[in-house]
Amino acid sequence: MGYHEPSSRFIGGRLALDFVNLIPPNEELSWDQLIEFLESARIVTPERGGELLALNRSDRQAAESLLRKAQQLAAVLRLAFDAVLRRQKILREWIEPVNELLRITEGHDELVAADNDWEIQFIASESGLEWLLAAVARSAAEIIAEGSRARLRLCANPRCGLFFYDTSRTHRRRWCSMTVCGNRHKVAAFARRHASVGHAGH
Ligand SMILES: [Zn+2]
Repeated sequence: MGYHEPSSRFIGGRLALDFVNLIPPNEELSWDQLIEFLESARIVTPERGGELLALNRSDRQAAESLLRKAQQLAAVLRLAFDAVLRRQKILREWIEPVNELLRITEGHDELVAADNDWEIQFIASESGLEWLLAAVARSAAEIIAEGSRARLRLCANPRCGLFFYDTSRTHRRRWCSMTVCGNRHKVAAFARRHASVGHAGH
């Protein structure tokens, strides 16, 4: 499925995984990508998203400060999730940026009208922009706290690289998406079988 494809945005099953899945390991998140994510994840309304996009010009310092925090969060979460996958130690220095965001998340939940439904939305008492990353930090904290019990997986397609949370009944999900990566694998396996049959000359 791969990065930069809109369809890959929310296959993670957990907000923190979708956040890390936004960009490949060696790329840095851009302001536009961050705001688009916040909108798609419904952390901000499209109206607020539009205002935030403009912030990059109107208050560059505030925008850059938030973007740096988001980039740092993405980087440490990738390290932490890789460590969870490999059953390795999660370092305190990766945890600190997560805790920093959790600390500023005082507030309360409220029911907010969304289209024809009601949604629970977090209303922060803090007016700073960092609270925009709070839900991602909270989601990441839950996965990290689950540790080796977390059903965190990396797509079995080595060229894919997307994380997902395995909620399947058998806990044997291997692909970010059966229709994309899983299907590609099946096609390749079929081609290999077909080729070897051909070589054997029946
Ligand atoms: Zn995949």
